[in-house]
Amino acid sequence: MTMQKLNEVSVRFVKGVGPAKSRLFMNLGIETIEDLLNFFPRRYEDRRHITPIAQVQLGEGQTIMGTVIRKASKKSWHTRKHVLDVIIDDKSGRMACTWFNQPYLEHYFKTGKTVVCYGKVDMYKNHLQMVSPEYEIIEAEQESLSLKRIVPIYPLTRGVTQRFLRKVIMSCIEDYQDSLEDELPVPIRNKYRLYNIKRSIENIHFPENFEDQENALKRISFEEFYFYQLSILLRRVNLKQKTGCAHTLSDSQVLNFVHAFSFELTSAQKRVIREIRADMAQPAPMLRLLQGDVGCGKTLVAFFGCYNAFINKKQSAIMAPTEILASQHYQNVQQMITSGVFGKMKVAFISSGLSRTEKETIHAQIHNGSIDIVIGTHALISEGVVFKDLSFAVIDEQHKFGVRQRSLLSQKGNNPDVLIMTATPIPRTLYISLYGDMDISVIDEMPPGRGNIRTELFRLEAQEQVYARIKQELKKGSQAYFVYPLIEESDKLDLKAAMGMYADFQKNIFKEYRVGLIHGRLSREETADVMRRFKAQEIDILVATTVVEVGVDVPNASVMVIEHAERFGLSQLHQLRGRIGRGGKDSLCLLVGDAKSPEGSKRLDAIVSTNDGFKIAQQDLMLRGPGHFFGRHQHGFSELKVANPATQLDLLALARKEALALSRSDPRLEKETNQGIREIILKRYPEYLKMVQAG
Ligand code: ADP
Ligand code: MG
Repeated sequence: MTMQKLNEVSVRFVKGVGPAKSRLFMNLGIETIEDLLNFFPRRYEDRRHITPIAQVQLGEGQTIMGTVIRKASKKSWHTRKHVLDVIIDDKSGRMACTWFNQPYLEHYFKTGKTVVCYGKVDMYKNHLQMVSPEYEIIEAEQESLSLKRIVPIYPLTRGVTQRFLRKVIMSCIEDYQDSLEDELPVPIRNKYRLYNIKRSIENIHFPENFEDQENALKRISFEEFYFYQLSILLRRVNLKQKTGCAHTLSDSQVLNFVHAFSFELTSAQKRVIREIRADMAQPAPMLRLLQGDVGCGKTLVAFFGCYNAFINKKQSAIMAPTEILASQHYQNVQQMITSGVFGKMKVAFISSGLSRTEKETIHAQIHNGSIDIVIGTHALISEGVVFKDLSFAVIDEQHKFGVRQRSLLSQKGNNPDVLIMTATPIPRTLYISLYGDMDISVIDEMPPGRGNIRTELFRLEAQEQVYARIKQELKKGSQAYFVYPLIEESDKLDLKAAMGMYADFQKNIFKEYRVGLIHGRLSREETADVMRRFKAQEIDILVATTVVEVGVDVPNASVMVIEHAERFGLSQLHQLRGRIGRGGKDSLCLLVGDAKSPEGSKRLDAIVSTNDGFKIAQQDLMLRGPGHFFGRHQHGFSELKVANPATQLDLLALARKEALALSRSDPRLEKETNQGIREIILKRYPEYLKMVQAG
């Protein structure tokens, strides 16, 4: 068989796929055979041993298999939802599997069919129950890929079933595995006794035992770590060889900045400003991560960089992930400008919500240099934005952006200094391996005079108590946030949502108060208007979704209720809570929810017991792993598909060691023997091509 480039062959040539199915595969990000082979299971089910229903453990995720003996559907009088109960019998016992508002499933579970269900088992009214389990109808006993083995479970899309994927991936492995090219250098593979690529791909999909699966995972993770590390290290070497603006600032200019504020800067802010000043003075571009808990005063530090650029007659930019946050920065910066010594500075705001003429005017002003600071959302990196001379760029809440967006912003200037800000700090060991291309500054101190935040946990049944507590606080003149996980009530989930509760509050529970609503589907004008009224204390209660997670700064709002708190990540809860406690008085955060798992209850315990963002981030990372912690697709290392820096730290260290050795011996990958690796890096990290070439 001739070697084929698997990243050039469309997946529709795989047996059983064809044009129609290949279009569905697009939804899973699979276009080529290479993509399909690298579409890894999200977990495995050990169907060599299926738990008899009589032996299931309560509260744990488990797989059962049995026959559909009965089903019943009804409308719940309580939540007005359609409820489907399917009773499954496996001779050892019976399990009720329950789905809400999915009436079409009724036809799917025909009596007499064999089904496999995976889910958490609860006890409900004296019988065993799984709510919304994953399910699979087993057509024929002897189906070899789905039974009596370790079975891969893939992420799905409409029209693509587990069984179909398994069949197609198996036949793809059989037909194309000889064309797989091993990208990991042989000496490294031998040194660490890693599987070759063929064996790894086979065993990551269809392992015969978990040891093989672990070895496959180890090899694939090592490879991901290795090339990722290499790209970072090369990137840093190349970055530091470039020439950007060497900003100069006199001591008296620094003092002017510091004295422009009505308050004293914290010593952490002063230290970080010194670090940034020194770094910006170098001709080599700065790439610096600024870590600091919510409310510690990072904006001011970012603004210092803008000021520095302005003094050096250059432009600066601040990019934030949401419109609310960007406009908040805009207002803050405007305030700093009008109240301070920066009178001549001109600042503009851009977002996708601007009209065409507004956009054109601002774009022209950015281009001709009459605007000094541009603050905005993703709209900042759109093509139409061309700076006259950008020398300093800030990215706020870095975990919401990817590497690509970051480098797009940098490319708007001539090797500008870049400051990346985050309120979700990570442990030092991890940061070195993940963000090893950056320098780091930390603000580990809060401005004085902040009130305390008290956090309390309530169960769902105690809802009335929560409302009563809030009324007490409102009577004292506070304003309150109510945060919900959803905008609107959903079919699939039995959860309260912002829109419904907003109506309910107005009509019933809080009818004597002024209630506002904010969520991601409002227009820019509506959002701005609601936020303005809340700030002006024309709204007492703001019903919200997580759009208020970052940046919102309303000091008089000192009470927050987070409903269904178990549905939020730990860092997210901490960010949300950071919206209160911004004024001088003490604040109150009430979490309402019931942990659905041991992990969930650890999360809620952690958030109640500490206000320290660094501790919380560590805990979060431990509990969830970095994939979820950073958001799989948005963090800077989404190139890591299976490798997990939190759980595979040792492997990461080895890969880093190898990458470091190579980057030292051949920092620009110019040696003849390294051309293969160079090609792989350019294939996997196309955005680094520009970096390397431009140097
Ligand atoms: P974050 O780090 O979360 O972005 P911000 O920069 O939004 O925090 O600052 C939060 C609030 O603290 C702002 O209202 C800001 O004006 C104020 N602030 C910043 N630094 C100080 C300080 N040294 N003393 C008092 N207040 C400060
Ligand atoms: Mg901030």
